Amino acid sequence: MAISALMPVYPRCGVRPVRGEHCHLIDEDGTRYLDFAAGIAVNLLGHSHEGLIGAIQRQAAELMHVSNLYGSPQGEHLAQRLVDLTFADTVFFTNSGAEAVECAIKTARAYHQHEGNLDRFELITFNNAFHGRTMATISASSQEKMHKGFAPMLPGFKYVEFGDLAAVEAAIGPHTAGFLIEPVQGEGGIRVGSQEFIKGLRALADKHDLMLVFDEVQTGVVRTGTFYAYEQYDLAPDILATAKGLGGGFPLGACLATEKAARGMVAGTHGSTYGGNPLAMAAAEAVLDAVANEEFIAEVRAKGERLRGRLEQFIGNYPELFEEVRGLGLMLGLKMKVEPRPFMQHLRDNHQLLTVAAGDATLRLLPPLVIGEAEIDEFFEKLSAGAADYVPENAG
Ligand SMILES: *Cc1c(COP(=O)(O)O)cnc(C)c1O
Repeated sequence: MAISALMPVYPRCGVRPVRGEHCHLIDEDGTRYLDFAAGIAVNLLGHSHEGLIGAIQRQAAELMHVSNLYGSPQGEHLAQRLVDLTFADTVFFTNSGAEAVECAIKTARAYHQHEGNLDRFELITFNNAFHGRTMATISASSQEKMHKGFAPMLPGFKYVEFGDLAAVEAAIGPHTAGFLIEPVQGEGGIRVGSQEFIKGLRALADKHDLMLVFDEVQTGVVRTGTFYAYEQYDLAPDILATAKGLGGGFPLGACLATEKAARGMVAGTHGSTYGGNPLAMAAAEAVLDAVANEEFIAEVRAKGERLRGRLEQFIGNYPELFEEVRGLGLMLGLKMKVEPRPFMQHLRDNHQLLTVAAGDATLRLLPPLVIGEAEIDEFFEKLSAGAADYVPENAG
């Protein structure tokens, strides 16, 4: 047998973490890494948060899982908390981001089809978007590399350029059900939707009775310096998918919707065996206990601003490597003038700093939200050393 026991769909690197301590990962052979990837925006509280560990341990001993055939005091409590914190009136829990987006897609279609508008099924989505790896969510993305080998795609998605409001308006037709967008593209390269663009989408949705669906799987749960990124546009979506940070490392996602948007999601229309089980609910309660308060959120904003300010100063020293700093809160990107992937590997292998490469020649910086000044200083030591001794592959 030549195939590995772990299906070889990831080009995995040599770092093999076995333990986490706050903002550091320790691998099999004892090497310590500073973690500015945080499981791709998942480990909001770092790796050894006592509140999160305690909540999971207590709940595991009490009750881990029951079927959604039974009443869920745990699910009701967390759903109410999310309703109180957001635009939403109702919440469906999932186990992942892709499933949260799937539920959002179904909710948007059902909004129209529940009323008998069977032709209105198409979502307008955006070039270089990332919504997950299920059939519907790869179909929602324009990225050919994710489609290859998996044809046919699910019908009902139309791609337009991110930021091009006129193209969106031109794409609206009799089949249009709504828009599905990441307010800040993550995998696409920390591209922040402009105020004008996002507000324009809200206005078009209102004008044509369309669902505005936000994929906040990566931007959500304080990552961008507000509980959700939509708050920074002074508007609300109709439907929102969230996951990554929500469980702080425990697999959990959710689809949030207004009462109006969820009118088609009636008994028997959707489900999930694990979705919203007591163990996942306990993890998310502990995450919200830590992050869902103005003091913590203001701190994330302040740390994001300090990090960004220092990055802007720093890149001035290396104009041949870096073009600009972009992002919101602690979801930051360094747009590079060289390939970001080999630089990310250099930081990882030679300076024990973990970051994430993204599209549009961007290096993503997604630290745990609990980073302190000491970790920010350590980050700049490693980044400076890494930039100083970096030789781009194509630099002869
Ligand atoms: C990661 C991500 C997803 C998919 O989440 P999974 O948990 O991997 O299924 C969807 N949308 C966005 C914006 C993401 O960043």
